[in-house]
Amino acid sequence: MHILDALSEGLQISKKRSKQLIRQQHVVLNGEIVSAFNLAVDANWDELMVNGQQVDFQKHHYWVVNKPTGCVSAKKDSQWPTVLDCFPSSYGPSQLSIVGRLDRNACGLMLLTDNGQLHYLLENPKFVVSKTYRVKVNGWLREDAIQIFQEGVVFLDGYQCQPSQLRILHQGLDESIAEVTIIEGKRHQVKKMFLSVGVKVTYLERIALGPLTLHSDLSRGKFRPLTANEARGLH
Ligand code: URA
Repeated sequence: MHILDALSEGLQISKKRSKQLIRQQHVVLNGEIVSAFNLAVDANWDELMVNGQQVDFQKHHYWVVNKPTGCVSAKKDSQWPTVLDCFPSSYGPSQLSIVGRLDRNACGLMLLTDNGQLHYLLENPKFVVSKTYRVKVNGWLREDAIQIFQEGVVFLDGYQCQPSQLRILHQGLDESIAEVTIIEGKRHQVKKMFLSVGVKVTYLERIALGPLTLHSDLSRGKFRPLTANEARGLH
């Protein structure tokens, strides 16, 4: 949130008056006198004081959900349950944005937030946010796939993916298991990357998003709020 919005909302004053307070050096952010108007603040971890009084402004909410397969990452769907069904209705998730979609038959870590700015940042291709997936594929995964992924897989339509890291955890004739870290989020990206090395993804689970990782104590279909430290790490 913009510091001027935080001041005007928290103190019920105009933006003009908020600017005056900054100019007059009355505003302190995390122990330092504020001299700029264009700072971003977040009530989850920033302490904003005016003349020694703490200013209360809106906190953003961040949730991590362990999405089950079979639900869609949308707020509404006429046919399928949605990831919002993992929340009780009392949580008011109607204001929440879903950051980074997962296919209906994929599962794992999803982030929801009411911080529109963060939503924009994490989905904007200009900002690099890594995502790690655990996958099972329907056959032998060639060793040279590691290098092909590293160099940037080229799709049939000529699109060249950004370099990605592939770790093969198990190779079998009928099934192989791997983890892949990508920094893009094109539609069906991971599935298409594995198809380009001759195998089909049969299981897809997101296990990390930026600094967040999926812990085994968050069972499928469950959600938890991010800790302040985790939320700070996203910025
Ligand atoms: N790549 C895919 O193919 N599907 C997802 O849901 C996410 C990444």
